[in-house]
Amino acid sequence: MSLYPVLLGRLARPDLFSDLAGIALGGKAWSGAEFDVLNPSTGALLARLPDMGPLETRDAIDRAAEAQGVWQSLPAKDKSAVMRRWHQLIVLHSDDLATILTAEMGKPLTEAKSEVAHAAAYVQWYAEEANRIYGETISAPSNDRRMLVIKQPVGVVGTITPWNFPASMVARKISPALAAGCAIVLKPAEQTPLVAGAMFVLARLAGFPEGALNLIYASHGADVGAELCTNARIRKISFTGSTEVGRLLMSQCAPQIKKLNLELGGNAPFIVFDDADIDEAVEGAIQAKFRNGGQTCVSANRIYVQSAVHDEFSEKFVARVAELKVGDGFDPEVTIGPMIDSLAIDKIEAHLADAGARGGTIRCGGKRVGNGGTFFEPTVLTGVTSAMRVAQEETFGPLAPIIRFNDAEQVVREANDTIYGLAAYFYASNLKRVWRVAEALEYGMVGINTGRMSSEAAPFGGVKQSGIGREGSRHGMEDYLEMKYLCMGGI
Ligand code: NAD
Repeated sequence: MSLYPVLLGRLARPDLFSDLAGIALGGKAWSGAEFDVLNPSTGALLARLPDMGPLETRDAIDRAAEAQGVWQSLPAKDKSAVMRRWHQLIVLHSDDLATILTAEMGKPLTEAKSEVAHAAAYVQWYAEEANRIYGETISAPSNDRRMLVIKQPVGVVGTITPWNFPASMVARKISPALAAGCAIVLKPAEQTPLVAGAMFVLARLAGFPEGALNLIYASHGADVGAELCTNARIRKISFTGSTEVGRLLMSQCAPQIKKLNLELGGNAPFIVFDDADIDEAVEGAIQAKFRNGGQTCVSANRIYVQSAVHDEFSEKFVARVAELKVGDGFDPEVTIGPMIDSLAIDKIEAHLADAGARGGTIRCGGKRVGNGGTFFEPTVLTGVTSAMRVAQEETFGPLAPIIRFNDAEQVVREANDTIYGLAAYFYASNLKRVWRVAEALEYGMVGINTGRMSSEAAPFGGVKQSGIGREGSRHGMEDYLEMKYLCMGGI
């Protein structure tokens, strides 16, 4: 069975897509309000969805709270089996999911396919991890006592995801929570709710208990977010998005001391030392900067290159960037899709204007593509300094600023001089340098001689204002489990 005709039929008939919400949630927007989902490459209407708010969210939370006990008490091997079925269905329908993803988000279809594979890998990883929840026994200080620690699910989790990885963020967030035994209420980004809806349909087919997964479609995040944070039946919030919204959610959770996982913004340094393999560093920088059109939280936002290799790196990098092709993600030649909206373009242009006014040089690109659309040329800037906006703020677009440096110790200080601490990258071959720099960078993740490091097997997350907690690996499970200490006396 393929969902392809069903889902693509729905894409062609936007009015039909809305009942996915019915399948997933068992309800519609009670006000009758709706919102449109558009293809960012063409502006075409993809779907008209029910615009849900706090009332529907409360209803979904109640359903999740009812399902919590059912899901939690299912034996681990049965939870694992449902999750494995979900994984198989995602793999079976991966082409359809990728097609939906490209239609609503714009990224090239090949990238969408690898994102769906990445999403499936999280589900598979946590299907296995569901079987590996361990407690501990403690050597008691006296013989008449027994002391141990058991692990239990935190309870219902409220999750909010961004538009830039609409499939893998859903899987990365909810798979560990489900494996730990938590029921879920998810609000996907308003720009990209369709692939989340399709994944929830597949979850329904996989056999999760009624109410274990609940999807809220909404045209904006604030009202649903406030309900999730302030409703006492939600025991934990898991959010991926901007640092600004993360801060707001944290304040909304404060009165109930509600736990949060936050995966927030970044300002990744990418450092090329003079002992690096330059060709490999160029390829790594292309990956780290231009994947997803630069719209990633781990995007190389500041490329520092040591003086001795600066010109060679810059020339080779500019030549490679010139090979990238901007356009509709369904065109097989295209490597960079549209920016998500015109505000994204405004930010890129503001960063370029600031750099230009302060002595930066555009080496390639620098302009919108077409009139009024949201396509932007891949752009390389040299002569950048750490003081420019482009180096201080997350650009979130295909703009690569190159900063020349001389002193290896000073560059690490500059790389750390930011409120963010998500991902950093560096290229070097001297082993002493590799260890020293890897340990000195104040980031949750450091790529050494690679421009790509995200994996379901590894803990993803940041320090400082890039967030709290980790997703992926066995560590990602711990965030959805509470420890309970049991002590028995009189033995
Ligand atoms: P955003 O914070 O504007 O939106 C993210 C989600 O939050 C969306 O679902 C949105 O509807 C919702 N939201 C918006 N306002 C809200 C509010 N007041 N209350 C509750 N929810 C609200 O971020 P964005 O622009 O969509 O995403 C880009 C940001 O996400 C970047 O900063 C990027 O670095 C970050 N990001 C981080 C990671 C990570 O793993 N650390 C991964 C992807 C993206």
